[in-house]
Amino acid sequence: DLGRCVFCRDCARACPNGAIAFTSRHRCGATSRETLVVAPGQAAEAYEAKAIAACDEVRRLFGRSLKLRQVSAAGCNGCEMELAAAGNVNFDMGRFGIDFVASPRHADGVVITGPVSRNMAPALRDTWLAVPRPRIVIAAGACAISGGLFADSPELDRSFFEQVPVDLYVPGCPPHPLTFIHSVLKFIGRMG
Ligand code: SF4
Repeated sequence: DLGRCVFCRDCARACPNGAIAFTSRHRCGATSRETLVVAPGQAAEAYEAKAIAACDEVRRLFGRSLKLRQVSAAGCNGCEMELAAAGNVNFDMGRFGIDFVASPRHADGVVITGPVSRNMAPALRDTWLAVPRPRIVIAAGACAISGGLFADSPELDRSFFEQVPVDLYVPGCPPHPLTFIHSVLKFIGRMG
């Protein structure tokens, strides 16, 4: 399950028949939670081909400009650092018209990192409500997608995800900047 995987590779090392393998492919974003659960024998190419479904409405609304507000909801700062790197001179996400902004009032959606602790749940909710419609939700990193290593903690409040659907999942612990940029570009219809 790429939505829970922290990419430590312990499972691959423990698997005697090589049934689990990791690659350096970065195109692992998906628009549905179910897709993140890789089927036995599923080739990486097959996963990538169906993982992100571009939608005409999303392309029309956000295809030329997408402003995002990042909410660190109890993340360890790993995801946050890689998202910041997506905008640096190496990856330069801004050249595609995709930027992080300082206020949810200026944003088209939120990018959530971290497992969402109880004390960050109201802040996440408030930030989401402050984003004008139409708006999108991106869950970046294993913690945001599933709770990650902290999924069983009583300190989490993930009720936000029961009320607001996620539009795009970006796996990783943390996600690589290329994974984030590729996922968003495909989602907004900028990549075939
Ligand atoms: Fe940190 Fe990994 Fe959670 Fe991101 S997914 S906040 S890197 S523990």
